[in-house]
Amino acid sequence: MNTKDVIKQVEIQLLEVPLEKPVSDAKVIMGKQTPLTEVMLTCATITTNDGRVGFGFTYCKRNGGPAQYALAKEYAPLLIGEDPNDISRLWNKLLWSSISIGSSGVAVQAITPFDIALWDLKAKRAGLSISKLLGQFKDEVPCYNTTGGFLQDPIEKVIDNAQKVLSEGAGGIKIKVGQKDYMKDVKRVEALRKALGDDVAIMVDANQQWDVSTALKAGRYLDQYDLVWLEEPVGALDVEGHYRLSRALETPIATGEMLTSFEEGLPYLERPAFDVCQLDAPRIGGITQFKKVVERCEEKRLVLAPHYSMELHLPLVATYSNDVWVEHFEWFEEVGVFIERVEMNNGFMKVPERPGIGLTLNEERVKSLNVATDIFN
Ligand SMILES: [Mg+2]
Repeated sequence: MNTKDVIKQVEIQLLEVPLEKPVSDAKVIMGKQTPLTEVMLTCATITTNDGRVGFGFTYCKRNGGPAQYALAKEYAPLLIGEDPNDISRLWNKLLWSSISIGSSGVAVQAITPFDIALWDLKAKRAGLSISKLLGQFKDEVPCYNTTGGFLQDPIEKVIDNAQKVLSEGAGGIKIKVGQKDYMKDVKRVEALRKALGDDVAIMVDANQQWDVSTALKAGRYLDQYDLVWLEEPVGALDVEGHYRLSRALETPIATGEMLTSFEEGLPYLERPAFDVCQLDAPRIGGITQFKKVVERCEEKRLVLAPHYSMELHLPLVATYSNDVWVEHFEWFEEVGVFIERVEMNNGFMKVPERPGIGLTLNEERVKSLNVATDIFN
């Protein structure tokens, strides 16, 4: 068995992907953030001595993208000359190289593009898609749209957006809530439910803007609309608050997108303190870490609905045996970041059969998005 692969070159790129229009959730409405206008991507392309190539990326919304890139620039040379098959060892080598800044957040998110590129490489070497390599369970995955339900749009516009994306194949609609006067949110949810009928899956997302008692009161109203979940009703690190709400409300409680390592997710996963796990592979350090999340979710029979990054999460959740959702964001497709597009029909996304993670940067388009490139040999 020949496993004498050696990493010859690592190229990293920082891309700035603009949004067609700025978007606002409850964090903006409550004055904590400005509207989101772009997403920063740190990409890694790893090439081996025999010319095999793996690609991976991590992302950042608002500030922090250049920090992820700066640390990735320190990590990249540590991979030269290494065996790309030793993914676990290399993940730990990178983490330990920067351990004095911690083992979550930027420290692991800067590992993510390399980790994903190494898994991409391994799957391509085996001639398999990443979901087949990890052990596929599903050929298609239910998906819901988020981008039409932000708070800057009046409810009439949200309903139009929802009808459009449902006709394009989405299987559910997420609407942002979390306003100080939660009855305003309840009215928006009621109007959406009325307009879409009883059969459409609806999720609501408060983006951490309530306290437990407000979330309880709002949640009791929301319980009547048969929602798939209530997301981030309270602060992202409030395990006890989420636990109490998941026991008190009929609507399942979702959270996890703001957690920045597998270990930060453990208090939720072990108890469990949520019904729907939304840990996000790029935010917690890539596929090596996300595999552990999938195993914990299996044990507790949770719903797995990772936040954002549909291009990556689609094949990853396809390995899960219980209920899953993928979050549909058109942002990268509008800009044309990747050559490939997701196939969405009748409420489902088709799990790609392409080798590896099945994503290729659209080099022509990327030229205008590129902020920095560094190559290590
Ligand atoms: Mg959310």
